[in-house]
Amino acid sequence: MADDDRRLVVALGGNAILRAKELSSYTAQFDNVRRTCVQIAELIAEGYRPVLSHGNGPQVGNLLIQNEAAARLVPSVPLDVCGAETQGQIGYMIQQALGNELRRLGRSQPVASVVTQVLVDADDPAFATPVKPVGPFLPREIAEQRMRERGETWSLVDTRGWRKLVPSPLPIGIVEVGAIRALVDTGVVVVACGGGGVPVLRRPDGHLQGVDAVVDKDLAAARLALDLGVSTLLILTDVAGVAVDFGKPSQRFLGQMTLTELESLLVREPFSAGSMGPKVRAAYRFVHDGGKRAIICALEDALAGVGGRAGTQVVADGSFQPSLLR
Ligand code: ADP
Ligand code: MG
Repeated sequence: MADDDRRLVVALGGNAILRAKELSSYTAQFDNVRRTCVQIAELIAEGYRPVLSHGNGPQVGNLLIQNEAAARLVPSVPLDVCGAETQGQIGYMIQQALGNELRRLGRSQPVASVVTQVLVDADDPAFATPVKPVGPFLPREIAEQRMRERGETWSLVDTRGWRKLVPSPLPIGIVEVGAIRALVDTGVVVVACGGGGVPVLRRPDGHLQGVDAVVDKDLAAARLALDLGVSTLLILTDVAGVAVDFGKPSQRFLGQMTLTELESLLVREPFSAGSMGPKVRAAYRFVHDGGKRAIICALEDALAGVGGRAGTQVVADGSFQPSLLR
């Protein structure tokens, strides 16, 4: 396999850092990051050269709760800055845990995080309809006050109360892509675009400005993979792959499919907007725009996934590889 074919962008799901229903304590997060880094180190030991990206949902949620609770003691921090904070927080854990694991394997690749800004378009229709819930559940009175005084969008999510909704625009560029490429080229294992990156707009005067929005982390990882020109996008999550009829008795996990097959599937299968939908769309976008292969698989199957032996594999039309069939 050519060296370039060994490069990949890996999107780590929230469960790689925090498992569902777990207390979000720092020790629990570190334990999970360590487990995840064992998988990543294994990929590296097999000769793969991953660029790592990760979710930040629970971490940014906790920061926003801290903001809310401490608002009378310290000035609260806007969402873009919280996004940057969590990139540092999770990047630190990955740097340490992956560094330790690589050292244990007798390897010496440096690991470094790049706090990443992701460019979004001010004309993105997503700005007209905020859909992504962020931060604490609050009572109606406060939600109404925030809508009135700050022009925010809030919605009654469930019995727990109201939550702020922010737009989820598409990533159109990675501001730090040149820095990331320079690091990758010198053999650094880079952590970038954490939590989808901090969404920024380019103002008419050319200056960048953070916005109150969230870029989906799987779509940002696809953008990063395309802009770095790597051949493979590996999306690691907590299910074996993409299922049709998910949760029904007729549920079936998909193996390898071509872009055209995925296209016709997207027409008839309503993939869930907050979970599998963005992964499938990221896989589609990546292969459609020139990537060779996108894989969606379970974290534990990372190596089998890149080897074509696990997960859902999306390949370009005409590049169907019988060897990848299970
Ligand atoms: P991550 O943190 O990895 O992004 P998500 O919770 O966003 O994880 O997405 C993974 C979840 O998507 C799975 O745990 C599963 O419950 C859910 N899911 C929804 N629809 C599907 C589907 N069609 N196939 C597989 N999983 C699905
Ligand atoms: Mg997700």
